[in-house]
Amino acid sequence: MSRRTFFVDLLLPLHLPGTYTYRVPFEYNDVIRVGQRVMVQFGPKRLYSALVRRVHEEVPAYKTKYVLSILDLEPIVTERQFRFWEWMASYYMCYPGDVMAVALPSSLRLTSESYIVVHPDFEGEYGNLNADELRVLDVLSRKGRIAIDEVSGITGYQKTMPLVKTMIEKHIILMDEELKQRYTPRRAAWLRLNEKYRDEGELKQLFDSLEKKSTLHKQLMLFMKFMQLSDFGKTAVKKRILADDKTLSLSALETLVKKEVLVVEQREESRLAFTAATESADNIVLSDEQQSAFQILSSAKQTVGLLHGVTSSGKTEVYIRLIDQTLKQGKQVLFLLPEIALTAQIINRLQRYFGQKVGVYHSRFNTQERAEVWRRTMDPSDNGYTLLVGARSALFLPFHNLGLVIVDEEHDSSYKQSDPAPRYNGRDSALWLAQLWDARTVLGSATPSIESYFHAQNGKYAFAEMKQRYGGVKMPEVLCVDMKEAHRKKEVRQNFSQFLIDHINEALSRKEQVILFQNRRGFSLRVECDVCHWIPQCVHCDVSLVYHKSTNSLRCHYCGYSIPVPSECPACHSTTLKMRGFGTERIEDDLSILFPEARIARMDLDSTSQKKRYIEILNDFEDRKIDILVGTQMVTKGLDFDNVSVVGILSADNLISFPDFRSYERSFQQMTQVSGRAGRHGDRGTVVIQSFQPYHQAIRDAMDNDYQSMFKSQIVERRVFKYPPYYRMVYVSVKHAEQTTVDQVASIYADQLRQQFGNRVMGPEYPSVARIRNQYIKKIMVRFALGEAVSEGKRIMLQLAEQLLHDKAYSRVSIVFDVDPQ
Ligand code: ADP
Ligand code: ZN
Ligand code: ZN
Repeated sequence: MSRRTFFVDLLLPLHLPGTYTYRVPFEYNDVIRVGQRVMVQFGPKRLYSALVRRVHEEVPAYKTKYVLSILDLEPIVTERQFRFWEWMASYYMCYPGDVMAVALPSSLRLTSESYIVVHPDFEGEYGNLNADELRVLDVLSRKGRIAIDEVSGITGYQKTMPLVKTMIEKHIILMDEELKQRYTPRRAAWLRLNEKYRDEGELKQLFDSLEKKSTLHKQLMLFMKFMQLSDFGKTAVKKRILADDKTLSLSALETLVKKEVLVVEQREESRLAFTAATESADNIVLSDEQQSAFQILSSAKQTVGLLHGVTSSGKTEVYIRLIDQTLKQGKQVLFLLPEIALTAQIINRLQRYFGQKVGVYHSRFNTQERAEVWRRTMDPSDNGYTLLVGARSALFLPFHNLGLVIVDEEHDSSYKQSDPAPRYNGRDSALWLAQLWDARTVLGSATPSIESYFHAQNGKYAFAEMKQRYGGVKMPEVLCVDMKEAHRKKEVRQNFSQFLIDHINEALSRKEQVILFQNRRGFSLRVECDVCHWIPQCVHCDVSLVYHKSTNSLRCHYCGYSIPVPSECPACHSTTLKMRGFGTERIEDDLSILFPEARIARMDLDSTSQKKRYIEILNDFEDRKIDILVGTQMVTKGLDFDNVSVVGILSADNLISFPDFRSYERSFQQMTQVSGRAGRHGDRGTVVIQSFQPYHQAIRDAMDNDYQSMFKSQIVERRVFKYPPYYRMVYVSVKHAEQTTVDQVASIYADQLRQQFGNRVMGPEYPSVARIRNQYIKKIMVRFALGEAVSEGKRIMLQLAEQLLHDKAYSRVSIVFDVDPQ
């Protein structure tokens, strides 16, 4: 009997071109399949779990190593996923291995460099362990933490990965990064029926007493709703569900708790916990505008549609109907958001309609939870998830039947991953993913990107528009303060014009809330010597250090380098060091002087580096425990608060004078989005923009909420100055620790590119920050006109770079590509 000899082409999670061929041991002939993980040795000593991309019988010309073991019985990656990764690698000029490294949840991505620790829940049940497991535990108990590499030293190569994998599955060990990521679950209040009313007599008495008096009607309504949701008192109901129900009375709820009819329990809230749907999408009554948008987006001949709906026009309701329709066809939906941290609100809304069908893919989840979402996305049974919600990384989930992709706030630049590779745009990649599935894509925004609007204008995308806020709520009134004028009249205190102060005071006196927006990073206070103008710089990067009040230190925002605030100037020994700048942290101090009674909170990148705090701030703001919320971009993102009547944009000038071809578009978007937080329900809100250039067109357009005008002026500029959507751009960064090497390589490479692409090549030049983490950087820009053979161009660029770096002298130089930079 002749035995067939199989080989596999493997994809490794590494920055390497192509796949690697290994031989399959005979005993695996019947089980080996595409999409499984196998363990292999790569390089002299390293072990990796690699993915089987192809199984074949083509004997390679060189001697191959054997696959050491198979890690999965079933494939964990589908053919479509591979194709998606391969598209992404080729489009964004990196390797499929780079994509694999970000696409797979890390628990599915064991490498010999991963560290393991004893699982905190392991209580020393040694009896059930085999000899190898005991030996690993023994070393772990002495060392605390070991790399998987070291496990091979204990048990031998062959056994390592399967052993580690089973020990993880048995909850004996855990990957170290996972341990760090273990979050403390959130607690939430639940209500259950007092035991007493299990007794039917008692229950009847209660009903009778509530029915008797008309003053108790609200309590009766609430109690009936509770009984309905709790399956007649059998289960508990989340307090928030009742509290959020606008048809019910909050004080009736509190009274029933006080009367001990309902008992409050604090329960841990797993994010993967089962949440039942409480409402049906069929019951949403769409407005005429919403209905026609729904029609267009669900049945247009184009598979991509753009929904341009002003802030608070009710885009979410349209999405919910589209989702419902797709789920009823038995297909899956992917709902993408720019930043998942900002999305508790929308996830609650989606769960209200789709309950346990909703899977949330979250970078804050630990890897086990992520692996769980991964598994349930693959699962076609009723236990599987059919509506997946997440930020861009949710694109990598293993869908089995994708029918619709929604990209909310499609204009948002956070869709772009800037580092590391793949430097992909989540929105653009979503279009490709949907195409792989023959699925529809809906892009939604109140301020669409110029690119998407352009495609809608020329018919490539279907287009739906909603110009009214839902329920007849008026768009906010946008006013602009001329700061030059205000300063001249001495009507400015602590960077606040009297006009804005008055508006804030009025809102506060009406017990309404205020949002203040400042675009620069909150702590952009710098220290400067008053005598010689010395400014502390980062030692690793070409930037000045930024003052952080909470730690009284100066920190680099690029590499994290930090020093205590110096007591004297090292250059001239003067002790008069001054703070300069205007940031949200300063603003918070100023506000407490101007509005001593108000409760103020700040939300920006720094104060929310602990993201838990971020959610707390939002909850507190929603619960009206905060009067004034100050923040950066984060406060602009899709939040729906019902009591905000005044929004202030403290310095529009920072926005419009940013040196970038998108700055006009961006500043319009940010001003419009932040304005959109005002007066979403009920009375008309007010927006106050402070600026030294009140007649700047971007401010005028934002004041008139005139997207068209912004688009018309921008699209002309984009054509004239050769920018997207007429041209596609690729930025190339050449990086190395020595400046002369960077100069050399960059100029050689730019010359080579010029021979190919002529005057489409710009540079090389130093970017505004020319050294980061001790690496000098030089940039080259290449543009391709619409309709040019872009993929061929990119292939040539990549090939030239690989050849150049082949030269030993340049082997430590890196050339990084950023396609469609943001
Ligand atoms: P957008 O996302 O367009 O800014 P939202 O979807 O948040 O707006 O809608 C604004 C508000 O109007 C929300 O509170 C939403 O619940 C409400 N709303 C919108 N459409 C409807 C509808 N058809 N029926 C009931 N409420 C709606
Ligand atoms: Zn000095
Ligand atoms: Zn630095």
